[in-house]
Amino acid sequence: MKNKKENLYPAVFLDRDGTINHDKHYLSDEKDLKIYSFVKKSILKLQKAGFKIVIVTNQSGISRGFFSENKLKKIHNKLIALLKEQNIKIDGIYYCPHGPNDICDCRKPKIGMATKAADDLNIDLKKSYTVGDSTRDYLLGYNFGGKGILVLTGHGKKQVNKIAKEKQKPLAVVKNLYLATEVIINDHKKV
Ligand SMILES: [Zn+2]
Repeated sequence: MKNKKENLYPAVFLDRDGTINHDKHYLSDEKDLKIYSFVKKSILKLQKAGFKIVIVTNQSGISRGFFSENKLKKIHNKLIALLKEQNIKIDGIYYCPHGPNDICDCRKPKIGMATKAADDLNIDLKKSYTVGDSTRDYLLGYNFGGKGILVLTGHGKKQVNKIAKEKQKPLAVVKNLYLATEVIINDHKKV
C-alpha cells in the first residue's frame, strides 16, 4: 500500500482517436497518426490551469487480433514523440486491450484505467474530467465521480443522438477539444 497522499491533482482524461488524433478505423500503424491542430493550445491551457493530462483509450483491436500490443506501444511512442515536437508532455497513456465480450474492469466506461492513473499520478478523480467523441468517454467521467464532455470531432456527431438513451447527460457537447478546455476551466472554478 502506498503512503497517504496529501497533494492530489485534478486531471483531464482524454480519449485518443477522434479526440486528439484524426480517427482511423482501428488505427494500426504509427504512420497514420495525425494530431488535430488545436491539441497543442488545448493541452497547454489545461496544464497551465493545473490539470494533469492522461490519455485513456479502448483498443479492442488487440483483442480482435487486428494488431499486437507491441504495435500499440510503437503507436503510443510515436504519439508521445509527435507531442514532444510541439513541446507538449503528457502525464500518461493507458489502454484497454480487451473487447466488449471480455471480462475486464478497464474498458471505458468502466473506470479501471482512471483508478490506475489516479493511483500512479496522485489524481483526485472527483475534481477530474473526461473528453471524448463517444458517450462512453463522457460516461467514464461520471462513473469515476467526476464529469465528462462529448466532442463532435471523430465519431462525435454520430454519438449525439445516443445521449438521449443515457440517464446521465454530459456536462457539455462541444465542437472540439479546445472548446472543451474552456468549459472545463470555467466549471472547475466553481468547485
Ligand atoms: Zn480492459
